[in-house]
Amino acid sequence: MIGLTSGLNDWWIRAGLYDPGWIRGFWLTAAFVYGSCMGSFLNVCVWRIPLGESIADAPSHCPKCGTLIRWYDNIPLFSYLRLRGKCRYCGMPISPRYLIVEALTGVLFAVVLATTGWSAQPPGKLLLYYPMLMLIITTAMIDWKHRIIPDLTTYPAMIAGVAISAALPSVWGMQNHGWSGAWSFGSLLVAGVFLGGFAWLGRKMAGRDVMGWGDVKYLMAAGALLGIYGAFFSLLAGSFAGAVFGVGMALRRKRRLRRTAIPFGPFLAGGSLIWIFCGEWLARGYFRLLGGQ
Ligand SMILES: [Zn+2]
Repeated sequence: MIGLTSGLNDWWIRAGLYDPGWIRGFWLTAAFVYGSCMGSFLNVCVWRIPLGESIADAPSHCPKCGTLIRWYDNIPLFSYLRLRGKCRYCGMPISPRYLIVEALTGVLFAVVLATTGWSAQPPGKLLLYYPMLMLIITTAMIDWKHRIIPDLTTYPAMIAGVAISAALPSVWGMQNHGWSGAWSFGSLLVAGVFLGGFAWLGRKMAGRDVMGWGDVKYLMAAGALLGIYGAFFSLLAGSFAGAVFGVGMALRRKRRLRRTAIPFGPFLAGGSLIWIFCGEWLARGYFRLLGGQ
């Protein structure tokens, strides 16, 4: 407990936020509010991207009465609760998914702020973790429903990872902008060659796609934002969880295993989420084991 507390203190001190509890409370609340706004944006992405609609287009309108949704009816969490989940004009129910994604994204942003502080990682890591969280949420939701991981989510995540790494070498514990950018881009390439090679080989041998290219691009983005260890952890944890789930589904439906097609994306995303929460701690433990200490 002492280690945990002093780790948290370290982080707040380095971020210039030492002292009373209410300052921490303020930053955790700020992270929650910021996260719920991002969640509101992700709701738009999850709804529009699979339909091929622009995410930058005009504000949303009610699918039943067509009335444009005003800004004051579009405030994350608050508007949904005040309207009691119904359109102001025609009373059509609004899916609780909107509320859930906004609240969940807010909670995740606040929790990741705290865990990054606990494990005494550089505060700049949040600039990598937050885009990754957004990719995790959209991938889990879109792939589960539509069986695709859109380029419109993976490409921006790759660019963000390499650009932020090159701009802030300290997030990787480096000093040289070129090296930190190369570490991020190199992780992206290694992840892509590894999983891409696996997908290519699988198609050659099985005569059909064993894995979507969206999964490969997801892992490349994870490499750029979480580094190669984070990408491989996502793959290992995701494959394990996906296999357990697949066997469970096959048993329940009494079907043969290879006939049960399940999307891989949500499991990869779950692996990445675990890495963001405790990857630093896992990696330290692993290298300590290797070192025999
Ligand atoms: Zn309406």
